[in-house]
Amino acid sequence: MSSEIEVVEIREFLTYFSWGRHAEDKMLDMRLGGGTYAIHKNGKALVVDSMTRPGQGQWVKDYLTRTHQVEQFTLVSSHWHVDHIIDNKAYADCVIVGHKHTREKMLEKKAIFEAGAYGDYDPFEVVPPNLVFEERLELWVDDIKVELEEYLVHEKGHLGVLLPEQKIFIANDILEDPLWFFDFGFASAETQLAELERLKAQDIDFIFPCHCSIETIKQGGFTKSLIDANISYLNRMIAAAANPDFASIAAAEMLKDELEAGIITWWEPYAEVHDFNKKEVLKLIQKQS
Ligand SMILES: [Zn+2]
Repeated sequence: MSSEIEVVEIREFLTYFSWGRHAEDKMLDMRLGGGTYAIHKNGKALVVDSMTRPGQGQWVKDYLTRTHQVEQFTLVSSHWHVDHIIDNKAYADCVIVGHKHTREKMLEKKAIFEAGAYGDYDPFEVVPPNLVFEERLELWVDDIKVELEEYLVHEKGHLGVLLPEQKIFIANDILEDPLWFFDFGFASAETQLAELERLKAQDIDFIFPCHCSIETIKQGGFTKSLIDANISYLNRMIAAAANPDFASIAAAEMLKDELEAGIITWWEPYAEVHDFNKKEVLKLIQKQS
């Protein structure tokens, strides 16, 4: 499994661990691809999420111990989705920070997760956050200030990680390249769009999502144009829903300008997410009418 993880040293204090994009894999998260980030300095590390297969969180921990002499780990669980919490066990003896809702959901689904009966994920031991909060929490990795903040996008209690001095934002699943997963069950489309606008108003120069093209990470990350691309995608989906051709409109067609501008990169397995999103948007339109 270790060979599946690719490491990108973004800055001397910031590393990306990618589980790669495997178009033929049986797991959706392996097909879409993704990864986690760690902020580290002077023997301390704040790891954001524990990846998508058992053992991968441990791999990251061992890597940081070996290469950066990290002795003190803190884990942040950005939200409860399994591709972000599966190997929290590797950090069971550490402070694990998360939103109150993330802990509640993990405990609620504990039996299903541990039986391997949830989606296409391997069974795993549930280790929920042991330090929970709502809205906002400030913490430090040595002298690097880190602000965890809740955004009502994609999932309730979803945390973004801001390094205000460096103007770096680790978005987790708040933003995705090339497009994001819709769920309007916990917050309306209007609320989620307003939250993305609130994010855009922050002083941020570099954005790092979980699920994205690793090439863009290697080139230094995304800019706020990714926020605009995600906002436009939802607006265009809602506008197109009444179109009789809606079912056959490809995402790559809908996102043509952003793809041509290199803001996002097309990756074919996202056609599955696009089809799922169409159903969510149709449900939304039906509810409103
Ligand atoms: Zn995810």
